[in-house]
Amino acid sequence: MKSLPYFCRGEVIRGFGRGSKELGIPTANFPDSVVDHLPADISTGIYYGWACVSNGDVYKMVMSIGWNPYYKNTKKSMETHVIHTFKEDFYGEILSVVMVGYIRPERSYDSLEALITAINNDIEEAKAKLDLPEHLKLRDDNFFTSAGSSPSAPPPNTASTSQTIMNGH
Ligand code: ADP
Ligand code: MG
Repeated sequence: MKSLPYFCRGEVIRGFGRGSKELGIPTANFPDSVVDHLPADISTGIYYGWACVSNGDVYKMVMSIGWNPYYKNTKKSMETHVIHTFKEDFYGEILSVVMVGYIRPERSYDSLEALITAINNDIEEAKAKLDLPEHLKLRDDNFFTSAGSSPSAPPPNTASTSQTIMNGH
C-alpha cells in the first residue's frame, strides 16, 4: 500500500456501543470527515501504528478499518485501540495516529472467544513490528509534537476544525 505510512487526526466520537470496552479492547472511533479522506488504496482490515491522545504520550496502536453498520455497510469506519491503559475515557479529544503497516484482512469469527484471541494476536504482532528501527522512528515524528493536536491552534496547513486531516505533512 503506497499510502503507508498514513498520518491522520480527528476528534474521538462515540461508536455503536458494540461493547468493545466490555471485551477489554476499547476502540476509539474517528468521525466520517477522517474516514472519508482515506486514500483509495487503504483497504479494510487490521493495521498497526502509533497513536497519541491530545498532547499526551505516543503509544502503539492497532486499528480496524471496516464497514460501518450504521450506514448499512456502505461507509467505512476507523477504530483505534491504543495499547495503553488510560485512567479515563477521551471522547471529544483529538486522536493523532500514523498507520504504519497492515496485519490482515477483516474476517468474521465463530465465537467471541475466537475474536478476542485474534485481536490479542494482532496486538502482539503490532508490538513486535513497531519495535523495528524503521517503525520506531515514526513514534518521534514531528506530527505528534506539532501544535496540530490542539484544536484551538491548528498548524497553518490544516483545516480550521478539530477534525483535520494531515498527510505527507
Ligand atoms: P464506542 O462504541 O463509543 O467506541 P468502546 O467500548 O469502543 O465504545 O470504547 C471506546 C472509548 O473508550 C474511546 O472512545 C475512548 O474514549 C475510551 N478508551 C479508553 N481506553 C482506550 C484505549 N486504550 N484505546 C481506545 N479507546 C480507549
Ligand atoms: Mg469503539
